Amino acid sequence: MTFQMLKTEKGKDMLCYDGYIFLKEKENDTKSIWKCNQYYKNKCRGRLHLSEGKILKNTDHNHVPNSSEIQVKKTLNKLKDIASNNSDMSTQSVIGSALNRIPIESSGQLPNNPTDLNFIIPDEMTKTIDGNLFLQYDSGINTERILIFSTTRLLYLMTQCDNWFCDGTFSSAPSLFYQLYTIHAVQYSNV
Ligand SMILES: [Zn+2]
Repeated sequence: MTFQMLKTEKGKDMLCYDGYIFLKEKENDTKSIWKCNQYYKNKCRGRLHLSEGKILKNTDHNHVPNSSEIQVKKTLNKLKDIASNNSDMSTQSVIGSALNRIPIESSGQLPNNPTDLNFIIPDEMTKTIDGNLFLQYDSGINTERILIFSTTRLLYLMTQCDNWFCDGTFSSAPSLFYQLYTIHAVQYSNV
């Protein structure tokens, strides 16, 4: 099995192998040691030793692999690549172009786009990948459709913040909808 190098959001090296994600821990002239990205969250001791492009050692993890997380990170990397090489492209076409390159099995067999506002949302599209409620509100069919997406955890975080950042956008809303309205909150100095 081969491994793949990606970049973290902060531009650091990230290694994907066998459904696990690793961050560089240390390196010398001949070898680098990578630790699992669940090191803090799950106290996972999974390590990978790499030398001259070959994996020398691969220790056990205390959690299951997560290929959808890797797919998300790959897509974010693609988004960044496309955006930095095509500064004249709109946000929508950058995202469209990155999504076009995701194999259908990892994009979750997306249903066809609805043609009017009276569509039924499949149950699996109302939850996050880990099964938490994501569609918090749906005004229903035969209404001026309003959908609100968030997780319960994020709603809780918003209750803990003094400032929210709100923004309405028209150009990146799906074509049936008038506006995409986002509300961001501050956590650990990040929006
Ligand atoms: Zn691990």
